[in-house]
Amino acid sequence: MPPPRAVPTRPALSSRTLYRLHRLLEPNGLYRFVARVVERHAWLRRPFTRTEESVKRKVFGCRMCGQCALPVTGYACPMTCPKQLRNGPCGGVLPDGGCEVYPGERCVWLIAVERAEAGGHAGDLERLHRPIDQRQWGESSWINYWQGRDDGLWTEPGGRATPVDLGLPVLVTGKGDRER
Ligand code: SF4
Repeated sequence: MPPPRAVPTRPALSSRTLYRLHRLLEPNGLYRFVARVVERHAWLRRPFTRTEESVKRKVFGCRMCGQCALPVTGYACPMTCPKQLRNGPCGGVLPDGGCEVYPGERCVWLIAVERAEAGGHAGDLERLHRPIDQRQWGESSWINYWQGRDDGLWTEPGGRATPVDLGLPVLVTGKGDRER
């Protein structure tokens, strides 16, 4: 199913509730096992992914990018930004906080800031997000999360880079530096 239109969406639950709920979903041995089994069998993976889609679409307006940013955006989905910006708002936010593309809707990044602050996670907005892998649209982000594939999706607070091995060749510059 194609993703729904990207229209800024305010989550249906408070950020405080979702920060609490998230603790129950953090990766552990059981979830990793479930993710491995579900992923291995298409007859399990399809209904599992559809269930995730239906729950997250209702609550967050999720478009199933497969690489979920919600834990560090106050649970406001950045893929509901019509420009799909993962690193904050564009320059077109209206003076009243409205979206440039859908003036009747609040910019989803303003929603993210307000919700992260309300939940005591304002520092999360200093993180930088790497571009998503476009091949993962439609996949289950829960499975990716439990399998540890989301590691490195964003930096530490303050924008400090978390080293991620992207499998790129190491370039030796001759000055003792190693660059990728
Ligand atoms: S999986 Fe992607 S589209 Fe869905 S809520 Fe998370 S960031 Fe948004």
